[in-house]
Amino acid sequence: MLHEVVNPATEEVVARVERTSADGVDAAIGRARAAFPAWAAVAPGDRARLLRRFAAAVDADLEHLATLEVTNAGHTISNARWEAGNARDVLDYYSGAPERLFGRQIPVADGIDLTFREPLGVVGVIVPWNFPMPIAAWGLAPALAAGNTVVLKPAELTPLTALRLGELALEAGLPADVFQVVTGQGSVVGQRLVDHPDVRKIVFTGSTEVGRSVMVGAAASMTRLTLELGGKSANIVFADADLERAAATAPYAVFDNAGQDCCARSRILVERSVHDRFLSLLEPAVAGVRVGDPRLDDTEMGPLISAAHRDSVAAYVPEGAPVAFRGTTPIGPGFWYPPTVLAPVAAGDRAFVEEIFGPIVIVVPFADEADAVRIANDSPYGLSGSIWTENLGRALRVARGVEAGNLSVNSHSSVRYWTPFGGFKQSGLGRELGPDALDAFTDVKNVFIST
Ligand code: NDP
Repeated sequence: MLHEVVNPATEEVVARVERTSADGVDAAIGRARAAFPAWAAVAPGDRARLLRRFAAAVDADLEHLATLEVTNAGHTISNARWEAGNARDVLDYYSGAPERLFGRQIPVADGIDLTFREPLGVVGVIVPWNFPMPIAAWGLAPALAAGNTVVLKPAELTPLTALRLGELALEAGLPADVFQVVTGQGSVVGQRLVDHPDVRKIVFTGSTEVGRSVMVGAAASMTRLTLELGGKSANIVFADADLERAAATAPYAVFDNAGQDCCARSRILVERSVHDRFLSLLEPAVAGVRVGDPRLDDTEMGPLISAAHRDSVAAYVPEGAPVAFRGTTPIGPGFWYPPTVLAPVAAGDRAFVEEIFGPIVIVVPFADEADAVRIANDSPYGLSGSIWTENLGRALRVARGVEAGNLSVNSHSSVRYWTPFGGFKQSGLGRELGPDALDAFTDVKNVFIST
């Protein structure tokens, strides 16, 4: 059976992709399992070389990959180029890991104690539709570097760049079945990866709701898990901040990728004394966000991923909602939704509480530092956030007080492949990226040798 892939900027069908059955998934897992011993036995330097070649193949194909993502996901071309470059960089970064997969020698009585970092076996990587290339790379690159084989399931809405990455891996010389891409539905392909006893680890990125069911499914075989889930991140602006810069950058911290970003700063908390001034600075910044044809170099925001998702986003702004101001969208086909600022919003409102995953932000006043931390933490999520202040001591106090995995001061940066990334509370479990990522793709084996 085939699934139609739609360009969200034009609503045209751009490809038809296989809906793999549960039996098809089992077959892929079987091949990955068969390929594992030989891949794990590849000398570390050779595994490193193959990953570097894979990175080089991605680099050589960067413009093509970026164009595919524009067509499939409606990402702006400048974002899509960054995303393909990120996949390349992550492969490059973890190509340094096979030769640094050190064990330890631990002092013990009557002998020698050694530890080894052993690969797990078959790793299933389940990817959402919002950042198909980077999120695939964050799972597959360290998994392969550690000597595991990988079965990757892209979201059904956005399979095209994942399929291309599979081809590039083969072109780069990775042995067959070491990295496979299996397309199809989450309820079939994703679920089978979670349930299959030969899959030793699942890297899941997606909604908290599905993440919870993945966790339940993984319990049956004690499958190891990394979960990267939802967010409702706070962007906290103190009165002493560079307000002009905070306001000029705030739209991009939430409307980038049309707000379909787990790290979107979708709650702007502003110290009450500068709240009105901040809003007056934010208004022109929001009006200035260039929404339109994602193929153009200067476009800053594209469409939402699907008509169904646009309906779900629009439901957060019912008739009579407190729209302070909003940006524009093109007219014609495409799943467009304008950048929208809601204020004032009541604390119990759905827009206040839930992850919208679209270009809607709420602006909320706070009284003082303690109040800011309280509001920021008043969420089941804890993925990321920003703190704007010129007071370094306060920046550090608030950063330590906010329950989130990734915080930035006077910046909106969230993800750097050389630092750990992941969530507190219901935003996830475990960490991706950074120098320790291979811990999650190996088990430590302890061997005592009696002397
Ligand atoms: P979903 O949770 O719906 O889907 C994520 C992936 O899981 C998709 O590939 C989906 O397949 C698959 N899936 C669906 N059902 C199952 C199942 N029963 N078992 C196994 N896999 C399944 O999330 P979205 O795709 O809607 O992505 C948006 C969400 O992801 C947001 O909540 C966002 O916050 C979160 N996210 C978190 C990130 C983080 O790093 N913390 C990064 C990016 C997104 P299919 O879609 O093909 O059905």
